[in-house]
Amino acid sequence: MHELSLAKDIIEAVYQNVSASEIIIVKQVVIKAGQFSGVVADSLKFSFEAITANTDLENAELKIIEIPFYIKCGSCGKKTTNEFSMMVCEECGSANTKIISGTELEICEVKLEETEKV
Ligand SMILES: [Zn+2]
Repeated sequence: MHELSLAKDIIEAVYQNVSASEIIIVKQVVIKAGQFSGVVADSLKFSFEAITANTDLENAELKIIEIPFYIKCGSCGKKTTNEFSMMVCEECGSANTKIISGTELEICEVKLEETEKV
């Protein structure tokens, strides 16, 4: 649901991190999105493409690396996952768990087109 504003945030961050003369040669924006972050990858890609169309970023592709959701149980020590992103241990049913991955949502790389040096 919030993919559109998220796409805007990503694009804003790209503009902040890439110099104005290099925006046009941004080839790929790589982000990490955890399963637990609630991001729908296809929807985010669609939003990104819609916003960048006919802009300096129109050739940029959004690549999303999905990070699986995992919790570690404080009672039995097992590392488990479940498709519902629930905080309950699959192994013993304890709610004494900690998320160890899957909440990530960050830009990890902005790749530029190789430019020939004159
Ligand atoms: Zn457990």
